[in-house]
Amino acid sequence: MARVFNFSAGPAVLPEEVLAEAAAEMFDYKGTGMSVMEMSHRSKAYQQIIDEAEADLRDLMNIPDNYKVLFLQGGASQQFAMIPMNLMVNGVADYIVTGQWAKKAYQEAQKYGKANAVASSADKTFSYIPDCSDLPISEDADYVYICENNTIYGTKYHTLPNTKGKILVSDVSSCFLSEPVDVTKYGMIYGGVQKNIGPAGVVIAIIREDLIREDVLPCTPTMLQYKIHADNGSMYNTPPCYGIYICGKVFKWLKKMGGLEAMKAINEKKAKVLYDFLDSSKLFKGTVRKEDRSLMNVPFVTGNEELDAEFVKAATAAGFVNLKGHRTVGGMRASIYNAMPIEGVEKLVAFMKEFEASHT
Ligand SMILES: *Cc1c(COP(=O)(O)O)cnc(C)c1O
Repeated sequence: MARVFNFSAGPAVLPEEVLAEAAAEMFDYKGTGMSVMEMSHRSKAYQQIIDEAEADLRDLMNIPDNYKVLFLQGGASQQFAMIPMNLMVNGVADYIVTGQWAKKAYQEAQKYGKANAVASSADKTFSYIPDCSDLPISEDADYVYICENNTIYGTKYHTLPNTKGKILVSDVSSCFLSEPVDVTKYGMIYGGVQKNIGPAGVVIAIIREDLIREDVLPCTPTMLQYKIHADNGSMYNTPPCYGIYICGKVFKWLKKMGGLEAMKAINEKKAKVLYDFLDSSKLFKGTVRKEDRSLMNVPFVTGNEELDAEFVKAATAAGFVNLKGHRTVGGMRASIYNAMPIEGVEKLVAFMKEFEASHT
C-alpha cells in the first residue's frame, strides 16, 4: 500500500480506517449480499444508513431539534442559487466578500434580488477577514451571508459577524466538523462534503425550520426547494447514497476520535506545527494576517515563482502531493483537514526545512 501525504484542498484526504471499512463492505454490506452502491435507497438497510448518519451528525454538532439536516446534491455552488431562491423573501440580502466562493455566491444572488456587498477584503487579495462588528446591514435584509473558512486564501472568521439581528447563512465547506460550532447562531449552515467529510457529490444543509417555506421565489425548480427535501427526509429523489454512507462512517470516526472538541485540539496542534515553522523560516512565509489564519488551509510562498514551482515538484517526488496553490493565487497551499495525520504535517515541515537549507 503506497499512500501519499495528500494536501489537496478537495476532494481531499479521508481517514484510512474509513476507507478500509468501506473496502471490506464493498461486495457485501452487512450480509445484504450487495454493495451500498447497488442498494435501493428505499430499502431498510439504506434507511438505517441515512438515519444513523443524521443522528451521528446531530450528536457531533449538537444540532437543536428545530433545525433540519438535509443531504443534497449539486455541490456547494448549487447553494449559491438555492439560498436566495428560498430565503430572499424581501428580495434583499447582505454578503461579506472574503474570497472567490463568497464572491460567486454574491454574484449568483444578484440574479434573484438585491444583493449588497457590505464588506470585502478584496483590497488585500483576501488575505484577511474584515472587521464585521458594525457593518451597514440593510434594514430589510433577509439574511447575512458569509463564507466562514476561505479555502483558497486560507482565512477563517474567528468571530462571527454582528448581523444586527438578521439571520446568518454560512458556507462551512472547508471547516465543516473541524471544531465545535454553536448552531443556534445561524439560520443556515451548509457545505460540500468533499473538503473535510466525504466524497464529492453530497452537500449537507442544516437549516432552522422556520426558514423552510413554501412561498419561495416563483419558478424555483422543485429540486431546489428546501421544503421538498425536508418533507421527504432527503429522499424526494434518489439521494447520493454511497456518498452519504461514507459521510456516516466519517461521523462515527469523529465520534471515536472524541468529537469536535477533541478535533479542534488536534487541528490546532497540527496547524501550529506548520505556522510556527512559517513564522521562523527565512525562505517560506504565510500569506494571511495572523489573527485570521485558517486551521484547515495554509497558503504560503517563497516570494519567487520559480522557486515555488521547484518546491512543489520536489515535494511531490518526496510523497507530499497537491501542494500547489489555487490556480488564481499561485504559491503553495497545504490543506490539513481532519483526516490529515499530524505526522503528515511534521514530515512536511521537516522536508521544507531541508529544502530551505539547500536553497538559502
Ligand atoms: C470548494 C468550495 C465550494 C465549491 O464547492 P463545489 O461543491 O465544487 O460546488 C464552495 N465554497 C467553499 C468554501 C469551498 O471550499
